[in-house]
Amino acid sequence: MDSTFSLPADSGAAEIFDDASGAVPSFLDRLFDQGLLVRTGIDGLYGRSGAFESVVDALERLISRLGATDSAEVMRFPPAMSRPAFERSGYLKGFPNLAGTVHSFCGNEAEHAELLACVEARNDWTGHQQATDIVLTPAACYPLYPAAAARGRLPAEGGLFDLQSYCFRREPSLEPTRMQLFRMREFVRMGSPEQVLAFRESWLARGSEMIRSLALPLAIDVANDPFFGRAGRMLANNQRQQNLKFELNVPVNSVEKPTACLSFNYHQDHFGTTWDLRQADGSVAHTACVGFGLERITLALLRHHGLDLAAWPDSVRTTLWG
Ligand code: AMP
Ligand code: ZN
Repeated sequence: MDSTFSLPADSGAAEIFDDASGAVPSFLDRLFDQGLLVRTGIDGLYGRSGAFESVVDALERLISRLGATDSAEVMRFPPAMSRPAFERSGYLKGFPNLAGTVHSFCGNEAEHAELLACVEARNDWTGHQQATDIVLTPAACYPLYPAAAARGRLPAEGGLFDLQSYCFRREPSLEPTRMQLFRMREFVRMGSPEQVLAFRESWLARGSEMIRSLALPLAIDVANDPFFGRAGRMLANNQRQQNLKFELNVPVNSVEKPTACLSFNYHQDHFGTTWDLRQADGSVAHTACVGFGLERITLALLRHHGLDLAAWPDSVRTTLWG
């Protein structure tokens, strides 16, 4: 796989990346100053302007057009999922540090008074909260697997779903590309190994074509998920050795450390076994997904074509807005 970037000689790309000296405003500061992102006081938690959202909306339509011939079944979940389903998914084994859980106050009036006294005194009031049966969605496909399994066996042609969700990952950062709440568009394929690998192959090609049509430099690389701890390093090595995850990278924050804007994941029978998801012939289903980081692609466009959408190259504007 190619992992070198071919930036056009006259793109000025070298100058568009941050100066580590801090002498010039960071990309994040420029996004705030331009009003494209709105500060909340929390790193990785931002508001988005109408202009920013107009790009996200256009990307969604572009992705829909690219996948239209496949007639995926559209499903939308809120950005939260069942805690029992989350526990069963195995997410806590791999990524305990990224998970976000929803807690609520379940006390009586006396405990309410204690809670308010804690808030007033600026003491920790969260001890008065209890875990609910809801957790935040870590990836758009997580709520799908139990819902699909509950329908019974897949049809002979397998399953194909079109998802989009805000996702939560506890990874605060000053890099605008690493948010704590961000949107992921996904297509998920379920079926035989051949069916799901053919799906992943087709999206590697379509995804690359899409990013090229947006005049962005890209490289496809084998990748791994950020599994937690020492056992996690083995899982990550295994994932790489078996080519289970590819990422489409675009330089956004720096040329040296490009940003994964799309991911192409083959889960083998992991979710099939976990959820007892079966093919038409009764054998365990394999699954694969392609994920589009909607904010990351938007940020890549802003980085390479500038913060003024009206000044973007005509070809890019036509791809996005016709
Ligand atoms: P993953 O499940 O980690 O492969 O993520 C799928 C896609 O979501 C990635 O290719 C990114 O484009 C996007 N993504 C992942 N983490 C973040 C984040 N912290 N902030 C913004 N986008 C993200
Ligand atoms: Zn997925």
